Amino acid sequence: MPMTTAELNAITDRIRSSRTITLEQLSALLDTADTDAVEYLHAQAREVAQSIYGTAVFMRGLVEVTNYCRNNCNYCGIRRDNAHADRYRLDDDTILDCCRTGYEHGMRTFVLQGGEDGQFGDARLVALVARIRAEFPDCAITLSFGERSRDSYQRLFDTGANRYLLRHETADARHYAYLHPSEMSWEHRMECLRQLREIGYQVGAGFMVGSPGQTHATLLQDLRFVAEFRPEMCGIGPFIAAQHTPFADQPDGSVEQTLRLLSLLRLLHPHVLLPATTALGTLHPRGRELGILAGANVIMPNLSPTDYRPKYSIYDGKICLGDDVSHCRHCLEMRIHSVGYQLVVDRGDFR
Ligand code: SAH
Repeated sequence: MPMTTAELNAITDRIRSSRTITLEQLSALLDTADTDAVEYLHAQAREVAQSIYGTAVFMRGLVEVTNYCRNNCNYCGIRRDNAHADRYRLDDDTILDCCRTGYEHGMRTFVLQGGEDGQFGDARLVALVARIRAEFPDCAITLSFGERSRDSYQRLFDTGANRYLLRHETADARHYAYLHPSEMSWEHRMECLRQLREIGYQVGAGFMVGSPGQTHATLLQDLRFVAEFRPEMCGIGPFIAAQHTPFADQPDGSVEQTLRLLSLLRLLHPHVLLPATTALGTLHPRGRELGILAGANVIMPNLSPTDYRPKYSIYDGKICLGDDVSHCRHCLEMRIHSVGYQLVVDRGDFR
């Protein structure tokens, strides 16, 4: 049954003002074929985002430091068993140079991301974070190196890292087991997220939209998880099949469904920092702009040296592989402007 705007209004008010969201109410928003209702959902999400962050969009300069990985996630193009992946790791001087370029282009957050690479053990990563912290005292340092020990997370935090991105991937343990090999566990993922929170990081969770085996029920668990755990950041983007992985022939996730979920997340957790992801931009030429219009407020320009970017191929068809940082910055500025927002020179901390 199509939902009227009045019904939708009542639901969004309830979402914003209380915890009493039923599965059915949320399902209706993910399912409805009523385009007016969806447009209204996005408008509500935009309004909520603007009431907190205005029309600012925060930049996070992303440095993809290594594509070596000990893990074998079924969806990921840099999984251990992908012998076609051309492996690389950046040296520390190169990583620092990427940060310098980002700083010159107005970025005040650096995200260092990589596979779970034994070469990026604590000694090396602590030294790297220390150098970035010393050179860029006014910037936030975000790390995204997967699951590490509590002691490791603590040492990196003590050295000056401020944030950690570790997508939960799915809030459903059985679905997690379908997406990952048996040596990985959902319980451990959750434990890591709790530890990061306890240590004092601003924590980023998140999930792919349309990952194989995902259902309405698992998505609702994701929404509930975000509403309850309240991560400072939540990265979501469509699943995109990666060649030479067990899920190479699976259909991509949908842009439309990703946009609805962005809006729902914004309403459920108004202050959350929500990126309009590169994956969204990969599946739709204006995907990131649409993400902003659905309530996202973060964009992650790629600072990796262009000769390495194609190698960090976690999914196929990734965009912005050959564009230098100044080109990317200009392009994003135009895109963000075109929908009435501004890129800002700001750490963009959670408020
Ligand atoms: N090793 C780090 C970084 C992983 S890459 C970690 O474990 O956190 C960052 C994110 O990319 C992953 O968390 C996953 O959600 C997403 N990703 C991986 N493969 C993908 C694919 N095929 N399509 C879309 N997103 C993918």
